[in-house]
Amino acid sequence: MPLSPITKMLGLAPPFLLRVFTSESDWGVPSDELESRVRNAVENGFLKRHTSPFSFFHVESDTDLARIVMAFNGNRLDPLSKIVLVPFQRPELIKHSPQLDSTLGLTKCGYANRRHWDWSASDNVVGQLCREVMMAGRGAFRIAKKDLREIVTLAQAESCAAAPGAVESCKVEECVREAAKNSPSE
Ligand SMILES: [Zn+2]
Repeated sequence: MPLSPITKMLGLAPPFLLRVFTSESDWGVPSDELESRVRNAVENGFLKRHTSPFSFFHVESDTDLARIVMAFNGNRLDPLSKIVLVPFQRPELIKHSPQLDSTLGLTKCGYANRRHWDWSASDNVVGQLCREVMMAGRGAFRIAKKDLREIVTLAQAESCAAAPGAVESCKVEECVREAAKNSPSE
């Protein structure tokens, strides 16, 4: 399993809910002053893209992680665009705001979409979560370009609908079928 070091480097054992950022600066580093780091994460890591509810993806395995990364970057101009991940434990989110709902994601990959969760929280509550997790020492992890290339290659081999140049129907169970629909199948 060539991807397992990625899961290991996230510093948290699955299952977890993954928040995807587009820059390391969205999450900051421990040497940043805590309160400005928290404010920055809320503004740039959460509110810059949209308001509450906020998107998370449920990850149980390296395969989940790879497919979710592909799904996220499949919506961007360059599938090798920088991608930065911070994992959160479900109880960490629920402790601060219990409104965590399974909703279909909006990527081209149905497999990833089925693992999408919406977390509703006020700006203050998002800040509380970030502060707590930052104080616990959780860092953001940037996926290396070579790993992104590997993820794209795997996704193309599976004919994931989010992979660059996808034309065939997907060999991944639930991928295209679920992406084509607009509601969860459960
Ligand atoms: Zn897919």
